[in-house]
Amino acid sequence: MRRRGKCGFGKNEVIGSSEIVFSTIWRLKGFLVEMLGACAMSIVGKIESMSTMIYHRVLSCALQGLNGVSVEIEVSILPGLPNFEISGRGDSAIKESKDRVRAAIRNSGYTFPKGRVIASYAPASLPKQGSAFDLALAVAILGASQQVVRPVNSPAVALFGELSLNGRVKPVQGMFGRLLSLREQNICHVIGPYEACEQARHLDGLFYEGVRTLKEAILRYSGIPSTKQDVREQEEIGEFKRETTGHSVINILPSIEVTKDKSTKRNVSRAKDSSNINDPDTDCSESADFKTKVGFDLIRGQSVGIRTCQIAAAGWHSLLMVGAPGCGKTTLASALPSLLPSLTHEESIELTKIYSVAGKGHVLNCMVKHRPFRRTHHTVTTAALIGGGVPPSPGECTLAHHGILFLDEITQMRPQTLDALREPLETGVVHLSRSDWQVDYPCEFLLVAACNPCRCGYLLEPGHLCYCDDASLRRYFSRISGPLYDRFDLVVPLMRVSADELMAPRDNVSEEEMRKIERMRRDVARAWEIQKERARKRHIKPFLNGRAIISDVAEAFEIDQRNMVYAARLVDMALLSARAFFSILHVARTIADLDARDVVLRDDIAESFQYHQSLPFEQNTERKMSS
Ligand SMILES: [Zn+2]
Repeated sequence: MRRRGKCGFGKNEVIGSSEIVFSTIWRLKGFLVEMLGACAMSIVGKIESMSTMIYHRVLSCALQGLNGVSVEIEVSILPGLPNFEISGRGDSAIKESKDRVRAAIRNSGYTFPKGRVIASYAPASLPKQGSAFDLALAVAILGASQQVVRPVNSPAVALFGELSLNGRVKPVQGMFGRLLSLREQNICHVIGPYEACEQARHLDGLFYEGVRTLKEAILRYSGIPSTKQDVREQEEIGEFKRETTGHSVINILPSIEVTKDKSTKRNVSRAKDSSNINDPDTDCSESADFKTKVGFDLIRGQSVGIRTCQIAAAGWHSLLMVGAPGCGKTTLASALPSLLPSLTHEESIELTKIYSVAGKGHVLNCMVKHRPFRRTHHTVTTAALIGGGVPPSPGECTLAHHGILFLDEITQMRPQTLDALREPLETGVVHLSRSDWQVDYPCEFLLVAACNPCRCGYLLEPGHLCYCDDASLRRYFSRISGPLYDRFDLVVPLMRVSADELMAPRDNVSEEEMRKIERMRRDVARAWEIQKERARKRHIKPFLNGRAIISDVAEAFEIDQRNMVYAARLVDMALLSARAFFSILHVARTIADLDARDVVLRDDIAESFQYHQSLPFEQNTERKMSS
């Protein structure tokens, strides 16, 4: 009989059961070690895989004034509760981009990554604004979550464009400036809104891929060229939009067959509808000619006014027309652009950049090909005239760059607004400082202004009784400060055109008039060439007489000593300023250039002096005193 132990088990049984327990524990230990090892390996593997997938960097472009600055958009996806953060001194539009980008990614068929998504815009010190980073941010997020892969050894590519909720890529302000700046920074491959294709065509050495949707942008980013499938998808989005808006006529996207010609036709029709002669971008097509809208052939009489317009156009001299209401001041100013030579390629690029930043160029997707003619209402504010806001946007001065700024009823404008013009007139640049933003905008415009000679308007009209007294006249003209008035190279009083001239038959003289106008235009173009040649020889910059900065006027403009003395005497007699003296010499040089003469004559100086009128109220006082 076997003995039982205290526990009720035999010795052998006790030994056997403890072995089983030990072996079980040993096995469990092994299993646990294996499990832990597997877990550890899995965590390490995940960490390893995370380190390769959680980060992606994409280039984009921010606007600083007219120029672009390249911006790096970095996205990292970290474990944690779902969150989406953007850092890097962005404005409210950038903060709002989170929702747009999230919706666009989902509606384009991709997945917005789970976890903590952190986006950083570098350099962080640069203030950034607008919705242009949407596209780059979306691509960076998809890159970080490995839904997009950029081919190895691909050249640097930059992306910009606003995203709509359905994944459409929309144009943004300053597209042309951004493209130019990216090219200057040797980033020659850019993916952006389809609307910028036409402008990008004018930039040599830039490979621009215009896209309509986020999906298309991702394909281009991944190195896949466009196919018909993309276009079909774009059409579907257009259809979707039509259904949701409920308007069958609305099509947010151009159809497949849209060609350059077709879009150009659409632009032309829009320009005709708007009838806005102030915007040079309405003249983007070659067929639409700004010059035909108002020409000198519409003007009757006013030979002095036409002559001063020609001198102003030839030498870039600022012009003030003073005359009774309805005498043709506005028509003369509107016809003046028709005398100016065409824009050069560099000027066209500069203007397109300005209009693109001002949010006008992208509307019609084209280059500015004609000199701007900006006409402001007399209630214009200083910020609208010079530029302002945060960030500072260009004002009328800058929009009139290389063209004409016409200030009608200048005596009705606020004196502070008018005085703000003095610095831009002198330097050709507007410096704007607003909190974090310091911006310089070019503004080499030709200033043309018009006003009535007095409150009732009949001071200069023979046969009309002016009811304004001296005090009212002084008040009327006090809005134009002396220093600003001094900056007008040409001041011309205009009389009303007689009824006989108005009634003169047009058919008999039209051909002769047209020849005369064509000759005027040719003379102005020749005068510009003469000035360019002189500037090249004598290193004068800028080349136009009205803008030229010269130390020795007599030598540079070939004015002999006798004529210099003659001009000085005239200035002394009329008690004019030193600026007026030099202005008389500059205008005299332009008059000689219009006749293609090397030497300035005494008659040129006499004619130039005529255009330096004293203010009308002083004439009135003199007239009353003499009578
Ligand atoms: Zn009056």
